[in-house]
Amino acid sequence: MSVEQTPGPRKNEPRAHGAQSSRRLLARVRAIMADPTGAQESLDRIVGIIAAEMVAEVCSLYVRRAGDMLELFATQGLKSEAVHNTHLRVGEGLVGDIAAHARPLALSDAQSHANFAYRPETGEEIYHSLMGVPAIRGGRVIGVLVVQNRTQRHYEEEEIETMETVAMVLAEMVAGGELVDRSELAPIDGLGIKPLRLEGLRLNGGIGMGTAVIHQPAYRVEHVVADDIAAEHEKLETAYSEMHGALEDMMAAGAFAEGGEHRDIMEAYRMIASDAGWLERLHEAIDSGLTAEAAVERVQNDLRARMSQVSDPYLRERMHDIEDLGNRLMSHLHGDGANGNGKVLPDHVVLIARNLGPAQLFDYDPERIRALVLEEGSPTSHAAIVARALDIPVVAQVKGVLERIEDGDPVIVDGDSARVFVRPGEDVQQSFKDALKARTAQARAYDAIKDLPADSLDGVHIELSVNAGLLVDLRRMHETGAKGVGLFRTEVPFMIRPEFPEVKEQEKIYREALDEAAGKPIVFRTLDVGGDKVLPYWTKEDEENPAMGWRSIRISLDRPAMLRQQLRALVRAAAGRELWVMFPMIADVSEFTAARALLDKELARHEKMGGEPPSHVLAGSMLEVPALAFQLPALLRHSDFLSVGSNDLMQFLFASDRGNSRLAGRYDTLSPPVLSFLTGVVEACNAAGKPLSLCGEMAGYPVDAMTLIGIGFRNLSLVPSSIGPVKSMVRSLNVGDLKQYLDTVVNLDDRSLREKLRGFAQDHGVVI
Ligand code: PEP
Ligand code: MG
Repeated sequence: MSVEQTPGPRKNEPRAHGAQSSRRLLARVRAIMADPTGAQESLDRIVGIIAAEMVAEVCSLYVRRAGDMLELFATQGLKSEAVHNTHLRVGEGLVGDIAAHARPLALSDAQSHANFAYRPETGEEIYHSLMGVPAIRGGRVIGVLVVQNRTQRHYEEEEIETMETVAMVLAEMVAGGELVDRSELAPIDGLGIKPLRLEGLRLNGGIGMGTAVIHQPAYRVEHVVADDIAAEHEKLETAYSEMHGALEDMMAAGAFAEGGEHRDIMEAYRMIASDAGWLERLHEAIDSGLTAEAAVERVQNDLRARMSQVSDPYLRERMHDIEDLGNRLMSHLHGDGANGNGKVLPDHVVLIARNLGPAQLFDYDPERIRALVLEEGSPTSHAAIVARALDIPVVAQVKGVLERIEDGDPVIVDGDSARVFVRPGEDVQQSFKDALKARTAQARAYDAIKDLPADSLDGVHIELSVNAGLLVDLRRMHETGAKGVGLFRTEVPFMIRPEFPEVKEQEKIYREALDEAAGKPIVFRTLDVGGDKVLPYWTKEDEENPAMGWRSIRISLDRPAMLRQQLRALVRAAAGRELWVMFPMIADVSEFTAARALLDKELARHEKMGGEPPSHVLAGSMLEVPALAFQLPALLRHSDFLSVGSNDLMQFLFASDRGNSRLAGRYDTLSPPVLSFLTGVVEACNAAGKPLSLCGEMAGYPVDAMTLIGIGFRNLSLVPSSIGPVKSMVRSLNVGDLKQYLDTVVNLDDRSLREKLRGFAQDHGVVI
């Protein structure tokens, strides 16, 4: 909390006085709410009783309206004609400052403060001291509650806390439409409701148009004011011990029982949950008159306010953990784990959130979501992974987006250029409508060829598979007419879960995937974590070079129990069916044979226990580490197939970090060294008679895919949304002509052949 007066000495005893006062106040607020009068009258009475309880001459409530405008909605003490006529922008004046920083302000001499903004219509010049608190709901400031006194008064910490509690209750009521008619929260004509253009970071391309829906925390606090304080304390204790029990069970189960880093992080998590300070804060909040669920919300609000001031990434992570625990506790309070997100959604939703947890996107009907805009979020965030799988455009790291977009605002999200257009003008809307139409027409054209084979004009057949990680990808595999899944990133289900899935749960995931694939092959890649792929429940090692560090198969071979559990789950799930397993980041043959030996052990164990074996087992290796390319004849004696992971391979071939934006575009996949390297790989696989595919991002770009086909690739695995464009390319290509052309350019000293290959495509009518 940040207050600009010298705080009084901190008391060790419970804040009995503050708690009593806020309880009394809340009881009176509730009595007013129980009396059915109009919203304005209730508000007027509420500010009146707050003024009386706080012994202040003035109490005013400002409510935030669209366009970052705070409007005086009710006052006791200021001139009544100022109500609905006094406006302050967020950041303007002391009230605006409180809203902008989401923190209380207590000043014994307000008028001497640099931010004081005088509004003559209010008649406030006679009041010297001011104390204001933000009214926060779900981490968002939706208003400001202020008291003022004539004298130069010093406000006690307990008084500020009482105001915060009441403000939170008012925030719930305003948001629930009980105190303020929702129409009054609409934009104010002519007052700064201008179109806005915000920029962020592209996490997924595409265009989405719709109505803004602000993601609220999953739980709506139904009852804010406690009827029976003792009962609320008891409810909290019960939920708290249930939550502990669930955490204990989780720790005792599966992978956690074996120790290791993920256990350490869970221990840390559990320690926070056991932190007496956290529990004490919760009980204190109940003492102030709140229900147990409102107390959790209240403590979460404080935490978020503190979090915004912490820059240390480790501490922020821990605070996120507490926030997450708060959500867990809330779910235990609700008793069923069901979310209370019962909003009526518009048909086309642009979802606006600070960040989304693993499953929160699924709280909404994915069919309605047109785009996602995040205030935070990173390329590896859960929301990004899920949104990509659902093909929803995502722009992240849009500073202040929650402050600047209101529920109901029309929004256009251009994922390709990472821009968000809020309340766009007619012309902007029209140009995006046109772009969307063109895309829809394109999608229809792709749909029309989905059941046709990916055969070139001269009869070369190309197998196109999809890269997947979630069940929704499998649906898209069917929709696009792909042959199967060429890369199933098994770490994705691990990343979106709050805890390490045990064998049974893994088995279920893989079985569902195989069922969904309905006989089409799925190449399951074993856990590929470390580097940029972080499991939420796993400590991230501080490594000098994480991409070249302890990651992927290296972790799996050092933690064989974990790999064996995964292989066990795969073998069980594939009973009676074909099982394809692929090991990532293999650097030498011995790593592959060691991994394969574990697979064989699991197969033997499964049969010994009387389980039905898979009908056929194929184990393959990824080629991501250049050294492996020089051992291919030896590797292919053991490996049933090979798949090039070009994302990692490129970063190691060029010694160029794939995540460093300064290096993006510096080296080209379509360059003589890459093409001659890959040609060698094609030749080695052909000589050994083993299938070869490529599953990195480049397979999804038509010019790159065309070139790969030209040097001999016949299997490509790509993101589902690229199947249509790549198939169109294949069906307009003459592979023989391309081969001839490539022979003439592959030995040139150009640093990139991209423009030349584009030129070839244009000259030969290849659709790229
Ligand atoms: C790759 O490296 O090309 C690959 C497919 O693996 P990932 O992108 O999951 O690292
Ligand atoms: Mg890789």
